[in-house]
Amino acid sequence: MSVELKPCPFCGSEAELRETDDIVGVCCLNVECGAVVTFAGFTDSGGIDPESAWNRRTQA
Ligand SMILES: [Zn+2]
Repeated sequence: MSVELKPCPFCGSEAELRETDDIVGVCCLNVECGAVVTFAGFTDSGGIDPESAWNRRTQA
């Protein structure tokens, strides 16, 4: 059920989903760019998943 992440909207590099105990985020893999979108407790906040939010940002 993984969603393919779109490239970073800032530099076009690949992005990666990162998860910790209470934070989920999508990080740009280009360390010189460092873009990150994080989500805390997204599973309890109406079904917004990080992949979808990242992908929406790329369309802004
Ligand atoms: Zn980037």
